[in-house]
Amino acid sequence: MRLSYGSARFLGLIKSGPKLKMKTIYAMFGEKCHFDCAYCAQAKSSFAPESMLSRVIWPEFEMGEIVDGVERSHEVKRICLQVVSSNFAKQEAFEFLSRVRNFNIPISVSVRVFSLKEASEWFKQGIERLGIATDVVSEKTYSEYRGGNFQKHVSLLRSLAKRFPHRITTHAIVGLDESEKETVEFIDKMHKLGISLGLFAFTPIKGTKLEKHPKPNMDSYRRIQVARYVLENNLVNLEEFEFSEKEEVISYGIDVKKISESAFLTSGCPNCTRPYYNEDPNKESYNFFDGVKRTTFRVGNREV
Ligand code: SF4
Repeated sequence: MRLSYGSARFLGLIKSGPKLKMKTIYAMFGEKCHFDCAYCAQAKSSFAPESMLSRVIWPEFEMGEIVDGVERSHEVKRICLQVVSSNFAKQEAFEFLSRVRNFNIPISVSVRVFSLKEASEWFKQGIERLGIATDVVSEKTYSEYRGGNFQKHVSLLRSLAKRFPHRITTHAIVGLDESEKETVEFIDKMHKLGISLGLFAFTPIKGTKLEKHPKPNMDSYRRIQVARYVLENNLVNLEEFEFSEKEEVISYGIDVKKISESAFLTSGCPNCTRPYYNEDPNKESYNFFDGVKRTTFRVGNREV
């Protein structure tokens, strides 16, 4: 099985590189997915190395080394399993879960499921939260970039949220040709269903279909982070937002100049940090994981 490089360094399984302030460690099961998301390093048609997910390297370890590392560490606040839809991944993930579930650390699993029955199987393994990625929030591009049917997917999320209240997470990627309005409406829908939302910035990966697609504009990403924050904290209703003709946010209906800087932290399950998952360490971060370096951004014709 694999661990993200940062997680392996955090647990002391790798000695080189800085030890980052992570709260969650990330494990990956399986490789070369049966599905073919246009943006994913593990997609069926991707030529990216099998040791990659997003821009992160995931070295291989014996399962026992990882289990011992987690047991030794008293700093891990969450374990997240990224399960690639491939042969034996589920079996291996179940084995890992049977070895770590008694450590009293909340566990999230990010996996593609298609039914309540499949979701129940994962919850029966003692996990706290299930992450079902949406990634593409525009109905217009969902089937092209991710495959499948957007409405069916949202309806599955709705059923899961009802059956497993406040235990479902989803992921949304900013920068896949959606409008800001579409993303904001999706965030609002998830919030009303009690589903936590992890925001990601599209990251072009060499060897994938979208390797030449641009990264999202930072101002636009900041506007979406703030939208997520004000909606999830019930500071405003969606109806109070104003959008431009290009469907960009031009007003939140409140003054957002003084909102908490935690709006810019990595979002999703509690304590999810994902350091440098989408960001180049030498450039401004989309998501911050260890303190926010506040930058200004534009909303309409104002700098906030
Ligand atoms: S939000 Fe973070 S911890 Fe939760 S499933 Fe996604 S990557 Fe894992």
